[in-house]
Amino acid sequence: MTDPRLAVITGSTSGIGLGIAKALALDGYQIILNGLGSADSIEQARQAVQSVSPYETYFIGTDLTDPNAIDLAFSELIETLGPISILVNNAGMQFTAPIHKFPVDIWNQIIDLNLNASFHTIRSTLPGMLTQDFGRIINIASVHGLVASVNKAAYVAAKHGLIGMTKATALETAQTGVTCNAICPGWTRTPLIEEQILAKAQLMGVDFQEGGRQLLADKQPSQEFVTTDQLGALACFLCTDAAAQISGASLPVDGGWTAQ
Ligand code: NAD
Repeated sequence: MTDPRLAVITGSTSGIGLGIAKALALDGYQIILNGLGSADSIEQARQAVQSVSPYETYFIGTDLTDPNAIDLAFSELIETLGPISILVNNAGMQFTAPIHKFPVDIWNQIIDLNLNASFHTIRSTLPGMLTQDFGRIINIASVHGLVASVNKAAYVAAKHGLIGMTKATALETAQTGVTCNAICPGWTRTPLIEEQILAKAQLMGVDFQEGGRQLLADKQPSQEFVTTDQLGALACFLCTDAAAQISGASLPVDGGWTAQ
């Protein structure tokens, strides 16, 4: 039996990252999870992936706002397990405030996590991908990498930047077995948007369920949340040979949001 290809998914202890990790595990990749949280919640996520994988599922607790920690963790990982074939840059955070009231420390944190971290993970993994002449880099951007919304300046700036970096990486790897693409989800029901649903519900004096419906009504023409399974399936497709000529793309999965 040949060794399985290794897939690192950042921010995969919940939400979209966990969905993508499960889908890649089911497709036969060996999974390395990453994220923050309690020991219990991390072990729960690891077990969820382990239960669908024949290979040992690993976890690295690297805080991705720390470039030195990323360098160290990835060099240790590659030294121990070998080159990484699939890199999914998914970890992200959100904060909403008007730009002139945006806390400077939170601005910096969002740029560090939602943009700079992907530079550092790509920098660490690309040499190994080039050596094995195969690699798939998938950056989880957002509709907010393509269009803006009010009160999300840091997030919108970071996600637009991530799409730019995706294109630059695709050009630099164009004549190799490596591709680099961005997936741009619309509203997807995960812990990241629960606060926004709550805020909407409070503003409108409605319950949580209706808050979610109103959030969708504002932006997402399908009026349905994207699911983490749908995003997992697209990530898996991007890893196939059929997708070898898709590179530098920003693929919306947004129920028509960016078609408006
Ligand atoms: P989530 O809050 O459920 O998951 C975020 C993950 O990132 C968690 O595993 C968390 O532990 C990890 N994380 C947070 N800070 C970290 C740090 N400093 N270092 C390492 N890991 C860290 O969020 P989600 O909704 O699943 O979002 C995942 C990605 O999808 C994000 O990049 C987000 O911007 C993007 N996205 C989400 C939506 C949505 O509607 N949920 C829409 C578009 C894009």
